[in-house]
Amino acid sequence: MPKGIPSATVSRLVIYLRVLTDLEAAGVARTSSDHLAAEANVSAFQVRKDLAYFGSFGTRGSGYTVAGLKRELRRILGLTRRWNVIIVGMGRLGQALAAYPQLDQYDFTLVAGVDVDSSKVGTRIGGLNVHHLDDLPALLADQPVDIAFLAVPVEAAQAATDALVEAGVPGILNFAPTVVSAPPNVTVESVDFLAGLKRLAYFLSKPPVDEPALTS
Ligand code: NAD
Repeated sequence: MPKGIPSATVSRLVIYLRVLTDLEAAGVARTSSDHLAAEANVSAFQVRKDLAYFGSFGTRGSGYTVAGLKRELRRILGLTRRWNVIIVGMGRLGQALAAYPQLDQYDFTLVAGVDVDSSKVGTRIGGLNVHHLDDLPALLADQPVDIAFLAVPVEAAQAATDALVEAGVPGILNFAPTVVSAPPNVTVESVDFLAGLKRLAYFLSKPPVDEPALTS
């Protein structure tokens, strides 16, 4: 991925890829920036601008082939290889993630679970062998691990992150509603369910835009 690409562009590329995957499944062979824009709820200008960061795709006037653009987006997003994933924290969320059926379809392979609870370590949960956090180095010596889903309580999130960094895991998807710090060579993405809920509460508690707010 070239440097300086806005993170919002990367998020939109993921959406364009999903739209293209649906189009391909529906047997559609060609698409346009207008169509992609309508499906992704952005402007056609935005679609063209996002794609232009990576080169020129498609033909002016006749759009893009669905298969060709999908292949390019998969390449740009690094989805042309398999990624090994571990789940750190095999509690309610960790177990739900282990049961998520579509990870493999996107080339993310769950390879192990990690926990500190002695009643879980050494068992199999959701089809994964559960290792102790202290055994991360041995786990990584056995097989490469690219990504960790961090599904531990807030109080444990930084210590678990430190252990992942120390063991050499380069990517962390943090589900704990807290900020964790990691050195620049480790990429952390957060999935903050509570923050989304609070944003929703904020928008729902606003008066509708076309009704003037009551004045006292
Ligand atoms: P949970 O208590 O059910 O499970 C947490 C697991 O983490 C336990 O198995 C525990 O033994 C393990 N753990 C604790 N410290 C650890 C460490 N240092 N290293 C490895 N494992 C450790 O909690 P949960 O409901 O699964 O939530 C996990 C995280 O995900 C929390 O931060 C929570 O806020 C967040 N989250 C949960 C949900 C949900 O629906 N359950 C939704 C969104 C976000």
